[in-house]
Amino acid sequence: RTEYAERKVESVCPFCGVGCQTELSVKEGKIIQVEGRKGPANRGKLCIKGRFGYDYVLSPERLTRPLIRREDAPKDARARLSFDRLHEVFREATWQEALEKASGGLKTIIDRDGGGALAGFGSAKGTNEEAYLFQKLVRQGFGTNNVDHCTRLCHASSVAALMEGVGSGAVSAPFTDAEKSDCIIIIGARPEQNHPVAATYFKQAAKNGATLIVMDPRRQRLMRHATHGVVFEPGRDVALLNAMIHTIIEEGLTDEQYIQAHTSGFEALKEKVKGFTPEEMAPICGVAADEIRTIARAFARAERGIIFWGMGISQHVHGTDNSRCLIALALITGHVGRPGTGLHPLRGQNNVQGASDAGLIPMFYPDYKSVENPELIARYEDAWGRPLDHARGLTVVEIMHAIHDGEIKGMYVQGENPAMSDPDQHHARAALASLEHLVVQDIFFTETAWHADVILPASSQAEKLGTYTNSNRQVQLGRPVLDPPGEARQDWELIVAIANGLGCNWTYADVPDVYAEMAALMPSLANISWERIAREGAVTYPAPAPDAPGKEVIFETGFPTDDGRARIVPTDLVPPDELPDAEFPLVLTTGRMLEHWHTGAMTRTSHALNAQEPEPVVSMHPRDIGRMGFTRGQQVTVETRRGDITLTLRADRDVTEGMLFIPFCFREAPANFLTNPSLDPFGKIPEFKFAAARIRAA
Ligand code: SF4
Repeated sequence: RTEYAERKVESVCPFCGVGCQTELSVKEGKIIQVEGRKGPANRGKLCIKGRFGYDYVLSPERLTRPLIRREDAPKDARARLSFDRLHEVFREATWQEALEKASGGLKTIIDRDGGGALAGFGSAKGTNEEAYLFQKLVRQGFGTNNVDHCTRLCHASSVAALMEGVGSGAVSAPFTDAEKSDCIIIIGARPEQNHPVAATYFKQAAKNGATLIVMDPRRQRLMRHATHGVVFEPGRDVALLNAMIHTIIEEGLTDEQYIQAHTSGFEALKEKVKGFTPEEMAPICGVAADEIRTIARAFARAERGIIFWGMGISQHVHGTDNSRCLIALALITGHVGRPGTGLHPLRGQNNVQGASDAGLIPMFYPDYKSVENPELIARYEDAWGRPLDHARGLTVVEIMHAIHDGEIKGMYVQGENPAMSDPDQHHARAALASLEHLVVQDIFFTETAWHADVILPASSQAEKLGTYTNSNRQVQLGRPVLDPPGEARQDWELIVAIANGLGCNWTYADVPDVYAEMAALMPSLANISWERIAREGAVTYPAPAPDAPGKEVIFETGFPTDDGRARIVPTDLVPPDELPDAEFPLVLTTGRMLEHWHTGAMTRTSHALNAQEPEPVVSMHPRDIGRMGFTRGQQVTVETRRGDITLTLRADRDVTEGMLFIPFCFREAPANFLTNPSLDPFGKIPEFKFAAARIRAA
């Protein structure tokens, strides 16, 4: 179809953190085809979402006019509004009226209660420039650090462990380095579903002779390509990983030279893991002692070993401990700082790395600089011309609690959907519904928008210019393909308008102007100008010079910590927050699926993708289905201590016996009505991956 295109535009995929480069063909105001370009991450490849999921852009359900809640439409925490019923609750407004009401409501709260009574959620689907502006608005305009985004539900615990251990929250090597590795560990991740193009490198590496170890509480197709497919008990990662570390130390397979030269804390680790013998851990983690020893030896003896992980590691009350184990495993074997080695938490949203780098988190300014550091506070107060909050802000789940406690009274939510993504949805939706003032900026009438006072129609990724940073630290340019529909406007312009409504007096000329200010404050973006990104298509940070390639592998000679050493942190066994019992005998885990992305706001409106997976399902092992007297395809109700949902029962041998799996993308049966909001104490991430549950016929 490309020969019929009127024009072609080079951009990047709007879905996952792989960051595939795309070429979009446009005709008569429509995207008619998307093809993969030869970007550094994808080399011409795209998955089903990137290739066929673009029609969400022209969905008839796009928001096209500013909306204001009708005065006679009270907020209802139990609201289940469809797009068709939007006008029962909201009326169309002019931009002037909507923006005045949006910023006016926020200002009323600031003047009465102070900026600490406000909070903002920015977006990991937006550009780096939007993320930078949004966190600046909350810090400068609101006067608080209560700003966060979906990284809190994704890799916050990984970042906490990485910052503590190696002094940087980003990956140490790209996923393409799997090609240079002899031994690849993938744990708590399902790249074939969630990072499909990255998965191709893992399969090719295995085909070319690398040892591929895939470890997960659910079986997965990638295990067919693996040398070792290790299915372990959910929530018992530390038992398994400490037993591997125990084996490596006991059998003298550590890299002593590396440990001496580059790490601290090894003696404490050695002491701690003495009690974690494979024999003692086998009944806890469900993996035979021999198998634990085999995979530990394979990783330690490899010339180059690399570790990839996902939310199966991070979304636990012990998520930071899980990541600490992986960091220790890499450090004691010297598998860091060389090509084909390293630590790589696979990032979720297409710009969750960039949004985090740009400071969309409550404890850090851009580039992970502490908001509690007096020198930095002074620097940013100088740069932004206003006194700033000196304390770290609240995180996503803490903000919901603070709303219930009456501390947070107003919010601005740009491009996130906490009414689907937060745990314990009854609690989260009741919080949103009780806000005095909620401004939602989005492209769709999301579940969060149901509770808004003002809805600002914004731009999809295909309608905006800006930079995105993928899982590999590659900064890439997204270019506009179409104009926003109706009266919808650019996100960055709306953030500026809200800021100016609060008296910030921002005067950015365009998106490159925002990038220039952001890059000047971020050492990570040194030598990476807007022009360079546009010219080269992708630039990896850090880049040593304007004309030198960015460094794909970091930590070659040391770590960005106070003493230049990596810190090994021993861990204990911490059980999941809520164990199965007689009342709730099953383990519920949640996650994504190949066809749908996160809360489904985009992919559920894509005909091509939604036709593949059109209805909410709960997956269960066929033996459990038979044992409990169900039939596949019947309607069942799944219940936890937080609530219940009704959906279709699917037989799936990937799900181990005693377990249920529900994707969290279906608004008809939101999985997060069921999930446990208990937090990891370091990363403040909820335990999405483990809840005690029961099931009955509907
Ligand atoms: Fe898009 Fe990720 Fe698929 Fe690539 S792998 S096409 S970035 S969803």
